[in-house]
Amino acid sequence: MYMDSMLDCDLLVIGGGLNGTAIARDAAGRGLSVILCEQDDLACGASALGPALIHGLTPGSQAIDFPALRIALTERDILMRCAPHISKTARIVMPQTGAERSGWKMRTALRLQNLLAGRDLLPAAREIDLLHHVAGGALRPEYSHGWIYSDGWIDAARLTVLNALDAAEGGAKILTRTACREIQRSQEGWHASLRGSRGISTGIRTRALVNAAGGGADDFLQAALGKRLSARALHLTQILVRRALSHDYAYLLHAADGRQVHVMPQEPGYTLISALGSEEAEADVEADSALLCETVNRYFTARIAPQDIVWSRSTVWLSPLDRQARARQVHADYSLEMDSEEAPLLSVIGGSIGSARQLAEEAVNCIASRLGCHGGAWTADACLPGGDLYGLAPSSRSIVEFSNFVQAAKQQYSWAPAALIARWARCYGSRIHKLLADCRDAKDLGAQPLPGLYEAELRYLMQAEWAQTAADILWRRTRLGLALPKEAEAALDGWIAESTAQEFAAAV
Ligand SMILES: Cc1cc2nc3c(=O)[nH]c(=O)nc-3n(C[C@H](O)[C@H](O)[C@H](O)COP(=O)(O)OP(=O)(O)OC[C@H]3O[C@@H](n4cnc5c(N)ncnc54)[C@H](O)[C@@H]3O)c2cc1C
Repeated sequence: MYMDSMLDCDLLVIGGGLNGTAIARDAAGRGLSVILCEQDDLACGASALGPALIHGLTPGSQAIDFPALRIALTERDILMRCAPHISKTARIVMPQTGAERSGWKMRTALRLQNLLAGRDLLPAAREIDLLHHVAGGALRPEYSHGWIYSDGWIDAARLTVLNALDAAEGGAKILTRTACREIQRSQEGWHASLRGSRGISTGIRTRALVNAAGGGADDFLQAALGKRLSARALHLTQILVRRALSHDYAYLLHAADGRQVHVMPQEPGYTLISALGSEEAEADVEADSALLCETVNRYFTARIAPQDIVWSRSTVWLSPLDRQARARQVHADYSLEMDSEEAPLLSVIGGSIGSARQLAEEAVNCIASRLGCHGGAWTADACLPGGDLYGLAPSSRSIVEFSNFVQAAKQQYSWAPAALIARWARCYGSRIHKLLADCRDAKDLGAQPLPGLYEAELRYLMQAEWAQTAADILWRRTRLGLALPKEAEAALDGWIAESTAQEFAAAV
């Protein structure tokens, strides 16, 4: 078949979500030549989440599994130290319900969590009197007692982009808006056909393949090779309501059907409500949204209705089917299926934000040895781009003293709006100095196509972080979309088209 160009590599990663980019980063850092293709923008699938909980294990919700809990807590801390600028402490409140009358199970689970978690990063779990706690103010009076525990918030979309950035800086080629259409075994290993958004076709000769297509991994394998993964599809529904909580606490509630519902404050003035997994063949976003509203109304005094929803989505997520396969992996929330008839083809099933680094490490361990690459695991001790706030090595200081970093940046760039510097410090960490390298005063920030969004940032995102459209910028590189009116997206797309045309005209 005719291809516009041909490329060779050791490893082709299909899918630019968190798992795919983490694998590309790890493999590139071990010296493999890597190409990653993403059919849309980076982090446009499950990883499009903004702030999400890192370890996500709910105390008391399942049988206590010491090794799994220890690993999840350790990974959470590694992630927060490696990417301190995009992480924050999350405090989660669980109101006690009638079904949990004695609460002994929860007390035991929280004691265990306190025992296993390091105490230098996050506050300990404890019981709380909700009648006298700020998080209790929004709840109905019957919820007078509960528990509070810690996890980390991390911006999952930015984490994905930072993994891609680190992969690229390690030599990987990142091709966004490029779908993998076909794969075939070949003498070298695999031949893959990619197609870009302008119809440009690229052939890839690769020694190994990773199928990290997220919720589409099973369909991809079925279409490409007629094989199925050992996975079940779950639908995860999220709704965003225009309702502000007067504090930063999140809540963990239980829906009438037993599902866990997370209620999480989002800036500015929104609340994100999500339910973990229904296993229906087709997602029923309307029914799920109604269930989420009903759950919130059972716990909170202020009622919400489907009309309050400003945005909703249901995403397909794969979960490993085979419990034994799951148990063989270090983390129990994913499995890696290797099709090793000849050249390696590894498919990723499931995972979570907290397990992505380790999943990538295991995936690359499997592949690297088959490709004769002997580079060892390295990502647990390496900051993600911008995470080196106080030295190159990941440190707790970067989390604990993050506000000092912001303060110092505000002083250094005292000519720039303080709110802009605070936002950039959260988004770009130490890379803020790169964004501002050529700026001496406010006019060097350039035009401001939207309030608070300057040309200096737009150029950086388009040149260094693969942003091409307003949606890439407003929803996946920043979360400014939440604070801006709907028309903002079209206005920014107009600015991007105009400035791209001007650059093109200047170049020819
Ligand atoms: C609603 C929801 C809420 C969640 N909440 C949490 C949470 O609170 N905490 C937590 O730890 N985890 C959470 N998770 C799980 C977490 O988001 C994922 O584990 C993580 O984002 C990794 O996703 P991924 O990379 O495997 O898939 P995705 O992010 O979906 O990436 C797969 C990518 O592959 C691309 N692709 C597909 N086919 C092709 C092709 N043929 N060619 C090129 N590209 C292709 C897609 O466009 C997509 O971008 C949640 C997931 C969902 C869906």
